[in-house]
Amino acid sequence: MTRFLKLLFRNRLAGIGAVVMGLILALVILTPVLPLQDPYATDLGARFKGALQDGHILGTDHLGRDQLSRLLWGTQLSLLVGLASAFAAALIGSTIGVIAGYFGGRTDNLIMRAVDMVMAFPYILLALAIVAALGPGLLNALIAVAAVNVPFFARNIRGIVVTLAGREFVDAARLAGMGHTRIILTEIVPNVLPVIVIAMSTTIGWMILETAGLSFLGLGSQPPQADLGSMLGEARAALITHPFTSVVPGVMIFLIVMSINLLGDGVRDALDPRLKSGALSRPLPVTTVGREGPIPAATDDLLAVQDLHTQFHAGSRIFRAVGGVDLAVRPGECLGIIGESGSGKSVTALSITRLVASPPGVITGGAVRFREADMIGASYEELRQIRGDKVAYIFQDPLSTLHPLYRIGDQLAEAIRVHHKVPKDELRKRAITLLKDVRIPNAESRVDNYPHEMSGGMRQRVGIAMALANEPDVIIADEPTTALDVTVQAQILALLNDLRREKGLAIVFITHDFGVVAQLCDRVAVMYAGRIVETGPTQAILDAPAHPYAKRLIACVPELGHGRRELAAIPGLPPAVDDLPPGCAFAPRCDKASASCCEGDVPLIGTPPRAVRCLYPEENV
Ligand code: ADP
Repeated sequence: MTRFLKLLFRNRLAGIGAVVMGLILALVILTPVLPLQDPYATDLGARFKGALQDGHILGTDHLGRDQLSRLLWGTQLSLLVGLASAFAAALIGSTIGVIAGYFGGRTDNLIMRAVDMVMAFPYILLALAIVAALGPGLLNALIAVAAVNVPFFARNIRGIVVTLAGREFVDAARLAGMGHTRIILTEIVPNVLPVIVIAMSTTIGWMILETAGLSFLGLGSQPPQADLGSMLGEARAALITHPFTSVVPGVMIFLIVMSINLLGDGVRDALDPRLKSGALSRPLPVTTVGREGPIPAATDDLLAVQDLHTQFHAGSRIFRAVGGVDLAVRPGECLGIIGESGSGKSVTALSITRLVASPPGVITGGAVRFREADMIGASYEELRQIRGDKVAYIFQDPLSTLHPLYRIGDQLAEAIRVHHKVPKDELRKRAITLLKDVRIPNAESRVDNYPHEMSGGMRQRVGIAMALANEPDVIIADEPTTALDVTVQAQILALLNDLRREKGLAIVFITHDFGVVAQLCDRVAVMYAGRIVETGPTQAILDAPAHPYAKRLIACVPELGHGRRELAAIPGLPPAVDDLPPGCAFAPRCDKASASCCEGDVPLIGTPPRAVRCLYPEENV
């Protein structure tokens, strides 16, 4: 709750809306106990008094009734009617939407066509027709306003429920034997509730206006009872001679609707789960850099990561996701980065191309050099030239990185066109060649496929083809085979291996699977809690791991045909990166650890190309 309020008040306008609305609500709640005059007592001798005259703080109306008292009672009535109609519309509309979206098919069709029919009428005319049929009165105005807003909720909520009803967690609930009512109440409703609250918060203001509109026309509250709309309606006759009587309810309607709308926008932003983790802003196109300390000097490697530090700043908490990583690759070389989930592999890879989302990500130290140019210090334009052209990226999930509405040929062409001017028919030829390069059979017809027409393995090949589109020097592959089955995985690895030999590509390959590393990588870097704990040639590390963590990771890999062996899982969990232990981060899980492991920084030592960050290594390197 405090987190929600903090996010809400970060948006200054929403804060102002909340304060104004809070004051109005306080006044309305206190109305029955305030020493107000009788709102119905007429005094024809004291008509149209101005403010602060004869004990009337806001003057009197055309019948000499006290305006302040009528205003506060009227505001109370208007707010009650507005809120009640918003709740009624939200409840009925959302129920219709949930039923239509969940059951789908004919039920959906019937309900939604009926909703469409209601939506076909201009809503104010429909409201007038409903009140005309039911007769004037505040309750009937409430029913009319609620009824015309039902389709709005029904349509919105149905759209969301349709996607939810096809999701795996709903299938799982069905498999568990739950009935429809239970699934709707426990699986669907909790997921749409925030959307209903958001829709309500942004529509209450408009419903108050609609109710006031009906009262203004004489169809809502009936004399002598006043709400804001009828006060305005009665004051209309004297608008020119005594404008003050119109200004009083007018200003109140303005304040209520403005504050509710501002507050509604703020609530929508603060409840949006995507905005909760970071600040209330979209990620920037490049990761923010706030480097402290000296910038390491250039080396002659093709791509070098030097003492890289990347952190996430979430409020007062600092997550040290990458804490001083050094890596380098040369042309034609494949470097594997391996470690458990959460060890900082992806953040390292994303930092190389400055794709870590900012906020909350910040690169706080080190350099990434591509052919000596420092990508961390580069401007957005310079970086754009390199990203996707000379340094390409293969993402883990090919379905979410390919645009679902474009043919893959067009997407490949676009990847080339961003960086190079190439004629249109040439682009198509290049796209077909790329598909052939990644061994897609029948490339000439496949080029016109949409992503959903291809299998997972095919889509990943297209992902690789996109990375190859501009003949890059370096490819960063972030677990590109995790979502694929083992045979397709083997094909993709063989393909990457061929490509690097044919084209002299340098590959940085991220994985949590030593089997994959053994197949593809020349060298490997083992990561733990944002740091490299061991690095060296793949075979040397596989044969004789020096760091206890690397040894235990390798011990988890099953080997076919090597007899029975117990696969020992590593006990415990990786440490939280916002609360790293002093000294070696693996010490709490290590059976060789002593008191000295928990004091001071443990350096990376050894004879190149091998190095290990351990005081008691399993092997001397
Ligand atoms: P890996 O790729 O090795 O599985 P990641 O590089 O994705 O791990 O994550 C490294 C660490 O950074 C994890 O401990 C994770 O909790 C943390 N992290 C990642 N993204 C964020 C974020 N937006 N805010 C806070 N911490 C994050």
